[in-house]
Amino acid sequence: MQGVGFRPFVYRLAVGYGLKGFIRNTASGVLIEVQGIPSLLEEFTRRLLSDRPPLSHIEAIEASTLACVVEEGFVIGDSISGVGVETLIPPDIALCSDCRRELLDPADRRFRYPFINCTNCGPRYTIVERLPYDRPFTSMRSFPMCPECEREYHDPLDRRFHAQPNACPVCGPSLALLDAAGTILQGDAVAEAVAFLRQGLIVALKGLGGFHLAVDAGNEDAVRRLRERKGREAKPFAVMMRDMELVGRYCEVSEGELAALTSAQAPIVLLKKKKGAALAFAVAPGNDRLGVMLPYTPLHTLLFDGGTDLLVMTSANFSEEPIVHDNEEAMLRLKGIADAFLMHNRPIYLKCDDSVTVHLSGELRQIRRSRGYVPAPIYLKETGPAVLAAGGELKNTVTLLKGTHALMSQHIGDMKNYEAYRHFEHVAAHLQHLFQAVPELVVHDLHPAYLTTQWAMKQSVPLLGVQHHHAHLAACLAENREDGPAIGLILDGTGYGTDGTIWGGELLIGDASGAERFASLELMPLPGGDAAVVQPWRAALGYLYRSCADLPELPFMKERRIEPVLELLQKRVNIAETSSCGRLFDAVAAICGLRGEITYEGEAAIALMQAAGGRVGSQAFRSALHRENGRWTILVSPIVQDVVAALQQGMAISDISQRFHRTLVNCFRQIIDKASSATGLKTVALSGGVFQNTLLFETLVLELQNAGYRVVTHALVPSNDGGISLGQAVIGRKYLKGSYRGVR
Ligand code: ZN
Ligand code: ZN
Ligand code: FE
Repeated sequence: MQGVGFRPFVYRLAVGYGLKGFIRNTASGVLIEVQGIPSLLEEFTRRLLSDRPPLSHIEAIEASTLACVVEEGFVIGDSISGVGVETLIPPDIALCSDCRRELLDPADRRFRYPFINCTNCGPRYTIVERLPYDRPFTSMRSFPMCPECEREYHDPLDRRFHAQPNACPVCGPSLALLDAAGTILQGDAVAEAVAFLRQGLIVALKGLGGFHLAVDAGNEDAVRRLRERKGREAKPFAVMMRDMELVGRYCEVSEGELAALTSAQAPIVLLKKKKGAALAFAVAPGNDRLGVMLPYTPLHTLLFDGGTDLLVMTSANFSEEPIVHDNEEAMLRLKGIADAFLMHNRPIYLKCDDSVTVHLSGELRQIRRSRGYVPAPIYLKETGPAVLAAGGELKNTVTLLKGTHALMSQHIGDMKNYEAYRHFEHVAAHLQHLFQAVPELVVHDLHPAYLTTQWAMKQSVPLLGVQHHHAHLAACLAENREDGPAIGLILDGTGYGTDGTIWGGELLIGDASGAERFASLELMPLPGGDAAVVQPWRAALGYLYRSCADLPELPFMKERRIEPVLELLQKRVNIAETSSCGRLFDAVAAICGLRGEITYEGEAAIALMQAAGGRVGSQAFRSALHRENGRWTILVSPIVQDVVAALQQGMAISDISQRFHRTLVNCFRQIIDKASSATGLKTVALSGGVFQNTLLFETLVLELQNAGYRVVTHALVPSNDGGISLGQAVIGRKYLKGSYRGVR
């Protein structure tokens, strides 16, 4: 990987042992030639592995013995360049401790310079336009280095040797604070911005991968104002906190969570809130977790050093559009949202949101894989031809396979608006260009209406449409370097089935080549199709209509016009049939009166999980497995009937939710047992967006492990639709090898 300080590290190591020779980049990695006393060569090799720079990654070392030659010393040689040079661009990296120290040191020439960086930290992926990763091909090209920076850049012993974005106040980018009208304000931009934030104003901050909207997270009115202006009613905001001491004041932090927060990737980590911590309620209403991150750029560090403790930091955009990254665009699109703009003149070439993670069952798991992780490859077990996968629709990513590398893009967003589509096209083209791969196949979802499918249809490359949940299964296996076959439990929102129904509660047995649909949740009617996704009360009516002989009268039906919806159900007009597990959560949440309408994906399901208070009950509702035409159905109607009966008997919603979770865990365990006895398989793969339900996920993993299963789960890529492009791509390779069977 370029730009992570590997060559200078090797240089220092070799010189330290008095070894002679060279290091140079080659088409497939680096070539090191060293000569010296054998015991020192051994030491050198050992430390090559143990002391390597934190951002470097060694896939393999091949060594051979050569005859001695006359050599002067150790040199960093020129790169062996040529067609097909395989180099990886590193992700954007959080401010390192050395740079942080210099930033706050009045004697340092970069004291309070917001663009300080070195080989171990700073912008990378977001500023690179093309390979090789050299300054002229980055958005730093408009800033020629001053003699002092130039000297550092060329000194192999300097921390800034070949640090492409190297800059200082003399030669590098600079900061400016603008008011809402776009007038540049005089004075210290950082100090003024801090003053604005402390007054409760909304400041648009230009960061690494785009603009953030920042506001004081302790100021209820300010946070509410941000919600109103951004058109974001209830979806939780992430908070950036000054340091770990502050994080500990508001949240429970485990060792694994601490490691994630302070890592070079510096993602948002969803932490458990401490009870009674005085954060504005509007930050994350009705959620026991809070998205937290630490300052990761020098600018953030200066803002917090200037006297802020907690800032809501949310991607600057309107509703679900992609993040804003360009200065003019920001002034235009954030008009009426931001009270001030803290921006700089280093262009962002590629926008990239913050990554979102959660630490569950002993591992850090991606929910949104973006800044800090992209474009680091996911290492596949096998090599093969180049394949490009277009992803799904929600939380879209694209994946390019090249050799053993799966190069997954950053989070692109929901492909429902023109801005997102443009961003998608740019990223898909950029990945191929950056990594110099020409795909032999483009893979897309089976859903004909997805914008990504329509984009794929326009490519002049052979195409393959892949079933959504098969892609989920394949993604889970691929990131775990598992061949399968495995028992795949895919619990999801929506995915286009092969039989005209909407799938989403599936037990698939198979691998990347193909899978058998062993079982699924009972089909339920969704009146109005997609309208039922944003209005779970419609789904609730459908589930009740199908499950109950007489439609019960429940509080959620009051003040809603249910007659037209019932008419659709009676006449079977405009009805989608679904086995979705996400919709089952929505329907039960609405039946319980928790959420009839939602303002963001998963809102009703989250409310239902929150109601359980972190506990899965010991009692369960009735459920049953039913076998028909060689396939199992997990009956949903008895569960719905029991939920209604419980409500009518006045059972507390928390009890109902705990029982509901217990029921699902039991059903899934039973069907997995059946699949296991039918096939002899003991490996279970869990995928799909419903596994973001931490309660369901952790309970199921634990109970399956206790029952002797090997459980394979997502960690490197999201279990939600952000992960399916990986699965699609891997399936695409099977297709090119002639072993693709699809889903039966
Ligand atoms: Zn640094
Ligand atoms: Zn300089
Ligand atoms: Fe999905």
